[in-house]
Amino acid sequence: MRPTGRLHLGHYHGVLKNWLRLQHEYECFFFVADWHALTTHYEEPEKLEDSVWDMVIDWLATGINPGSATLFIQSRIPEHAELNLLLSMITPLSWLERVPSYKDQQEKLKERDLSTFGFLGYPLLQSADILAYRAGQVPIGADQEAHVEITREIARRFNHLYGREPGFEENAEAAIGKMGRKTANLYRKLRRSYLEQGDDEALATAKALLKEQSNITLGDQERLFGYLEGTGKVILPEPQALLTEQSRMPGLDGQKMSKSYGNTISLREDRDSVASKLKKMPTDPARIRRNDPGEPEKCPVWQLHQVYSDEQRKDWVQTGCRSAGIGCLDCKKPLIEAVQAELEPIRIEARELENNPDVVKSIISEGTEKARDEAQDTLRKVREAIGLDY
Ligand code: SF4
Repeated sequence: MRPTGRLHLGHYHGVLKNWLRLQHEYECFFFVADWHALTTHYEEPEKLEDSVWDMVIDWLATGINPGSATLFIQSRIPEHAELNLLLSMITPLSWLERVPSYKDQQEKLKERDLSTFGFLGYPLLQSADILAYRAGQVPIGADQEAHVEITREIARRFNHLYGREPGFEENAEAAIGKMGRKTANLYRKLRRSYLEQGDDEALATAKALLKEQSNITLGDQERLFGYLEGTGKVILPEPQALLTEQSRMPGLDGQKMSKSYGNTISLREDRDSVASKLKKMPTDPARIRRNDPGEPEKCPVWQLHQVYSDEQRKDWVQTGCRSAGIGCLDCKKPLIEAVQAELEPIRIEARELENNPDVVKSIISEGTEKARDEAQDTLRKVREAIGLDY
């Protein structure tokens, strides 16, 4: 996540709630993408430091747990930059130019000069971020799919160029021989299904089977991953997109909640400000007087009920609004209570962390150390594959 400073309810419902779930289901790496912030905001580095720590505090305050997930800062791990550089040698310019967000963002951020090397290369930096951990899955929204796709293409190209070793087929066959007859036969059958019929399920089953084999070395395992797909040794596995359903959190004006629209409620916002913002929210313009009936579909408050209210309360809103049985303040009251209840534990936790910045820093230091071990391991393999291990 780019360091955007204090997070708001849009981040919480759109991203962090997913992370909270994922951290218990997978081995997760969540990082502050501070170099990415520089690709567009290179003229304002002075805001970066506060934004980084504010964001980390909000992650922790919502329950992202350093005991379950590894949290770190991108710029503390130089291996991201090294991998970015090495991958840049093999990445055709046209691949970067055709990433849809390249042109979109240049259009959107017209006031900035984004005709820079760094901005064109940011999808490659993202690829390095992913591949440095040989990640299996990347949690993204549908609008980010092109970025995972380019990562897959780059990994494929890398493996194709550098994954070949002399006698690769013979080595792979020898490794199959070490698995035991039954497993070896199953592996061969699955491999044929994938290579001859493109059966992706067979590929996934074969990969899972390989991961279970404790009697073959990691090197053999990588060889057999590559052999499965008809390529050489897989140094950088192709990640999959883990499409997460992103709830579209409405802002105070009914548009998507975003700092640039000035329609946010921040996670650390105090009680009075939350209540006052919600009370002032615009409603269906047809309800000028208390006894004018309204239409929830035309009201941004109704969109918030979709996020916070159960079916019973939603029925109450629909009936009460259309019959003018309830006033808009009545309608907002349970929402205000729900938002306050959601934010209260986050506020308390964030206050505690604000008062103990050393705790936050040491969580990040520990996470960075752990992440760096992983990234260094990958870079060793990458240098060795290219032949830079002299
Ligand atoms: Fe909107 Fe509720 Fe007022 Fe209807 S009663 S206009 S849904 S705030």
